[in-house]
Amino acid sequence: MSQKAVVIGAGIAGLLAAAAISQAAPDTEVLLLERDMLHGKPEDRRGVPQGRHAHLLMAGGLAAMESLFPVNMRDRLLKAGAHEVALANGMLALSPAAGWFYRWRRNGPHMITCTRALLDWVVRQALQESTTRVTIHQASVEGLLGTAQRITGVRISPANGILPTELEADFVIDTSGRGSRNLEWLKNIGITDIEERKVDSGLTNATRIYRTPPGAESFPLTMIQSNPYNGMPGRSAMVLPIEGNRWMVSEGGTRGGEPPKDPHRFLQYALSLPHSIVGQLISSAEPLTDVVVSRSTSNVRRYFEKSTLPERFLPFGDALATFNPAYGQGMSVAALSARALAQELHRTELTSPGLSRRVLREAVSHVSTAWATAVGMDVLYPNTQGGELTFADRLTAGYARRITQAAASSPDGASALWEVTSLTASPTRLVQPKVLLAALTGPLLPQLSEPPLTPSERSILQRLQQASINRI
Ligand SMILES: Cc1cc2nc3c(=O)[nH]c(=O)nc-3n(C[C@H](O)[C@H](O)[C@H](O)COP(=O)(O)OP(=O)(O)OC[C@H]3O[C@@H](n4cnc5c(N)ncnc54)[C@H](O)[C@@H]3O)c2cc1C
Repeated sequence: MSQKAVVIGAGIAGLLAAAAISQAAPDTEVLLLERDMLHGKPEDRRGVPQGRHAHLLMAGGLAAMESLFPVNMRDRLLKAGAHEVALANGMLALSPAAGWFYRWRRNGPHMITCTRALLDWVVRQALQESTTRVTIHQASVEGLLGTAQRITGVRISPANGILPTELEADFVIDTSGRGSRNLEWLKNIGITDIEERKVDSGLTNATRIYRTPPGAESFPLTMIQSNPYNGMPGRSAMVLPIEGNRWMVSEGGTRGGEPPKDPHRFLQYALSLPHSIVGQLISSAEPLTDVVVSRSTSNVRRYFEKSTLPERFLPFGDALATFNPAYGQGMSVAALSARALAQELHRTELTSPGLSRRVLREAVSHVSTAWATAVGMDVLYPNTQGGELTFADRLTAGYARRITQAAASSPDGASALWEVTSLTASPTRLVQPKVLLAALTGPLLPQLSEPPLTPSERSILQRLQQASINRI
């Protein structure tokens, strides 16, 4: 008899969880329940407010995603207008630990940049084309059915009256995002021992979209990273290319260094960073939107793996853990978790005892890597809440700083750092002998105080600066 799975939330984690089931257990009927009304196009949604800010899809996340669909997701995304950026030489990055990164003529991981609306849309289309067993319904889940031993379905408030209020299922996946009420739902069926940790640097993001200035289409993704080492609030900015010949410009500041909503001050913020290049790039560019500000960016981890989680229930994506978005890892962790589900379902049945615990164990290993990166830095900012600095934190932060210093001017260090950041290699890559040596010997080349621009990039920047002077 075919089985039925319910997935709560059609964000990126929900779509990928549904794809994992439909690929590895194709007879299973999957009901994807989404609170928002979905339309047949890329769209910003109320349920995904973070979608208006910069979203980078790392190589490890893309590879995991590719494994879940019969079509080539990279090609689809690029065809839909997304950009592909090589970490080794396709971007300009100013690191607080080491100055500007040198650019190397090496192969290495790439990342995909586009709006979150486009990414979700391309993934949703691929899912709906690949199977008829997954159906998306507009409904809000209000609770879980079952006992502390086993979940048997969800309680919903259907918007259309088609689904019953008590919807039975053989398996339930919670991908309802950062606002998931899974702790409360589990408490209502008697599970009260799930630990939660929150580390909040007070990060605020402000984003505005601009038309890419004519002639600047090839200008690389540019980022000024935040400085956790000087005891001051973190402040950062990034210009990334997105579909439709546009630039998405995102500023981020921790508590005390928050970027403004006011358009004039938004530009001033970019110009006042340790290097003014982001401000220079946008000062004469045509804005296409207002500045959008979001504050829900804390690192939150729910330790389901340490509790007595019921059978047939799995929390995924932001419902399991969220990370400071500055490191661009949330979607990739969700994709790697979905791949773990598919792998487990290739071996065993959806209803086999212990399935959720086994998948959770694998998902948690990806969560832990991302958590260590994000929290290891966030605890260094002043007034971070919930981030007591342990000896291990100091050690990790100290080594991360040395690796970054080495990576800025050493191709071996850079390769290792980019692979770990991209989630294509595990953190043990950072302690391989060559990398360890690079970290211990320190920078090989002089620190770059100016971005390593090619002659044509330099002339684009000069032209944009001139255009901005002419406007005054
Ligand atoms: C400012 C910012 C920038 C970010 N940048 C990056 C980045 O560069 N790279 C990256 O990888 N990650 C980034 N992230 C993280 C990324 O947004 C999340 O990790 C990702 O969205 C997680 O996907 P999800 O499906 O778990 O949750 P979401 O995408 O939030 O989706 C949850 C879905 O569940 C629905 N829902 C909620 N409650 C219910 C309910 N009760 N019933 C039914 N449906 C429900 C919502 O409507 C929504 O559609 C960023 C986050 C922020 C805040």
